[in-house]
Amino acid sequence: MENPKTAMNPEVRSGWDTDVLIIGSGAAGLRAALAASEHANVTLITKTTLTESNTHYAQGGIAVAMNLDDTIALHIKDTCVAGAGLCDVVAVEMMVSEGIPRVAELLDWGANFDWEGTLPRFTQEAAHSRRRIVHKGDATGRETTDVLIQRVRNTERIHVLQNAFAIDLITDAALKESSQELITCYGIIAIVEEQIVSIRAKATILATGGLGRVYPCTSNPQIATGDGFAAAWRAGCEMIDMEFVQFHPTTLFLDGAPNFLISEAVRGEGGTLLNIRGERFMEKYHEKGELAPRDIVSRSIQNEMHLTQFPCVYLDITHKTTDFIQERFPTISATTKHYGLDINVDLIPVRPGAHFMMGGIRTNTDTQTNIDGLYACGEVACTGVHGANRLASNSLLECLVYGARAGRNAANFASTQPAGPPDLPILSNVGASATLSTETAEIDIEEIKSAIRETLWENVSIERTGEGLQNTLAVLQGITESLGDMVTCSETKDVSTFETLNMLNVALMITQSALARTESRGAHYRFDFPTRDDLKWQRRILITRDNPPEIVPL
Ligand SMILES: Cc1cc2nc3c(=O)[nH]c(=O)nc-3n(C[C@H](O)[C@H](O)[C@H](O)COP(=O)(O)OP(=O)(O)OC[C@H]3O[C@@H](n4cnc5c(N)ncnc54)[C@H](O)[C@@H]3O)c2cc1C
Repeated sequence: MENPKTAMNPEVRSGWDTDVLIIGSGAAGLRAALAASEHANVTLITKTTLTESNTHYAQGGIAVAMNLDDTIALHIKDTCVAGAGLCDVVAVEMMVSEGIPRVAELLDWGANFDWEGTLPRFTQEAAHSRRRIVHKGDATGRETTDVLIQRVRNTERIHVLQNAFAIDLITDAALKESSQELITCYGIIAIVEEQIVSIRAKATILATGGLGRVYPCTSNPQIATGDGFAAAWRAGCEMIDMEFVQFHPTTLFLDGAPNFLISEAVRGEGGTLLNIRGERFMEKYHEKGELAPRDIVSRSIQNEMHLTQFPCVYLDITHKTTDFIQERFPTISATTKHYGLDINVDLIPVRPGAHFMMGGIRTNTDTQTNIDGLYACGEVACTGVHGANRLASNSLLECLVYGARAGRNAANFASTQPAGPPDLPILSNVGASATLSTETAEIDIEEIKSAIRETLWENVSIERTGEGLQNTLAVLQGITESLGDMVTCSETKDVSTFETLNMLNVALMITQSALARTESRGAHYRFDFPTRDDLKWQRRILITRDNPPEIVPL
């Protein structure tokens, strides 16, 4: 395999750089790399370091039907109820049943999850009918990535490239006469060591994670700017369910502290929510109280904040012993302590923040997209397992199951490819409608980012209205127009500039899809259409770069 690090000039190279190229080092990308490497040479690239991902920060755990009183059928049922009528049941069944061997294998590989006797210690989370969440204290993501990264590092066939930023997919779209013809992906254009390079791959897997950073309040780390969604959309991928953004009810709201998640498991272990008046309020909104589905808890908190005219509510876990808190929530306890809050005795100030994207690149259960040779898995993909609302802790499970499937399928596809890629006008494709030039004009990238975030928070977050969505659409279109020709030029190598355009692209997709869905369902709540309408809307919304949102059957 040629090393992409030393093969920078796409003009003078021929042949492939790798069999399978994977973009992203979260659970999905790492698991895909391990599976693909059983049959192919793999290159895995990641935006910053191997450890930096949403996965790394996952706290609560992995949902898996392994407990003695649990069944696959129950886990499927809970997932589909949370998904509010939009889950793809075949995909859910696959995730839940294949999830058992995937988690067992993670344990075999050394994941040091919490145990009780001969079984993992299963915890409870909202909307689960059984205790089925395996975890490592409140740092399950770190434990999971540590195990996967160690295996990746020990696998010779996997070549890792850190600080490599994927800009766009290389496809043969420009050679096609009709938009109906199947296009094929041949790798990516990326920034590596401040150079724009191409990495040519027989098969490519997008595992770039989520997009929480398009909102100002989010649990997601800085890498989550939606790059994979945007690159796929620009390349012609079908995007689906983009209106369904999950808001986590409890992110820390403390002066000077960064966005930080207070895991659902805190409520699972009996934590209660109080408003500023000290009143417990969740029972007023839902029979399951604090363990109601996330969208309901988020909206209830928002309503209490509105009623009390106070910018947060409080989470109370003080009834638990110090030892229990130390053992079960060491990360939360240490982080809050760092900012002067002792959760053994203090109430935790919290409010909702953007957390997870249910929608994404449309894939089948083999993780194939509508572009040949392009696969997607993890949060950037949408197989339909989450429907309109994700059940807590199902996401890491999805990454393990569909990551492994993506790796296997991409390696199989790679084995069918010819000795070299076609002669493509790669460089002239760079950033087609993708890049901004900071060199030719005075653009304040940070100002654009803030404008996108503010308008999304105001109109496209927990509660939406047609009028608000139209306003945001106008703001986003205004930004796009103000960028004018700059949107098509491509001299910059500034990652932040590319991220900004990606944010603009995903903001548009979310807003357009949210405007199209004139009902309330799961994480999508419309004040002007407050009820769920199964007759008209048990359907999905498909969006592509060249077409307005289209309503498609389940
Ligand atoms: C704070 C927090 C707590 C959570 N807790 C849980 C939980 O307990 N249980 C659960 O099931 N889910 C949880 N989730 C959700 C879950 O962690 C994520 O959905 C899941 O980890 C996503 O994994 P992924 O592999 O798809 O993406 P990620 O883990 O986000 O990885 C994406 C990777 O892609 C890379 N990347 C992105 N863009 C580019 C680019 N342009 N070029 C190159 N590389 C790029 C990133 O650097 C990163 O390495 C939590 C999420 C957060 C933020």
